[in-house]
Amino acid sequence: MRKLIMALCFVSASSWAQNYQPENKPHNAWSVIKSPSGSFAESIGSYANGCMTGAVALPPTGEGFVDMRRNRNRFYGQPKLIEFIKQLGRYVNERHGKKLLIGDLSQPMGGRMNFGHSSHQIGLDVDIWMQLILANEQVDPYRDMRTIVDKAGGFVLNGGIPKETRDALYFAATHPDVARVFVNPVVKEYLCSTETDTSWLRLLRAWWGHDEHFHVRLKCDGNSPLCKNQAPPPPGDGCDGSLYNWVQEQSDRVTGRFVPKPKSKKKRKPKVMPEMCYQLLEQQSW
Ligand SMILES: [Zn+2]
Repeated sequence: MRKLIMALCFVSASSWAQNYQPENKPHNAWSVIKSPSGSFAESIGSYANGCMTGAVALPPTGEGFVDMRRNRNRFYGQPKLIEFIKQLGRYVNERHGKKLLIGDLSQPMGGRMNFGHSSHQIGLDVDIWMQLILANEQVDPYRDMRTIVDKAGGFVLNGGIPKETRDALYFAATHPDVARVFVNPVVKEYLCSTETDTSWLRLLRAWWGHDEHFHVRLKCDGNSPLCKNQAPPPPGDGCDGSLYNWVQEQSDRVTGRFVPKPKSKKKRKPKVMPEMCYQLLEQQSW
């Protein structure tokens, strides 16, 4: 009986959350939450289907970093993500006199976003612009990102990846809390051909886009029993034929030579979030 009641509660909460549209706008509930939940810090669910409690706001600026586009209200993360960004900022400032331009982290309680990302839902993902700027340089936080890749030609612009960007990627990929760093396949291919020790490139994962920013993903931590880690990247540096295929396909896509495979007709099931996320939504006063 108790199970049945729980199941009924779950169904009603989940359908409510899926249908919730404040002021009839095409928002989802997670995108209208203005501030984090005050409870202890915990990631719940997976990077692309979850939520979080106890998030911390990244300050607008700090040593070696400035947060961009704060009007999006996506500057929240688990405490260890905020600490990671501060560490990386200190590192690029001390080593290169530069600062990072920080893109999206997560919404105040994580969850799905209205646009831009499928992941970034549990406070463990951050986008960082490929281009760093001088530590004392003023920046318009609403300016456009700049790519460092010629996708059609399959090469890195301006003769190569700037040293400070390479060092920031190295810092991230060798940090004990980091699970993956997503970069454009051209960025990875460049590093495969220029690094003497390529073992650290294992955590650099090729993905579409990520030519004007890289995306750092931290591992779940021990305080989050409901957080779902991804399987670790396969062994080896990943500097192989499959990487070349990514570069080639990207070039084909932007030059119109790509012939897409016929799409399968299987319907995708709507994602059901972890039950605790629905409970957190129910506790919100709207
Ligand atoms: Zn991202």
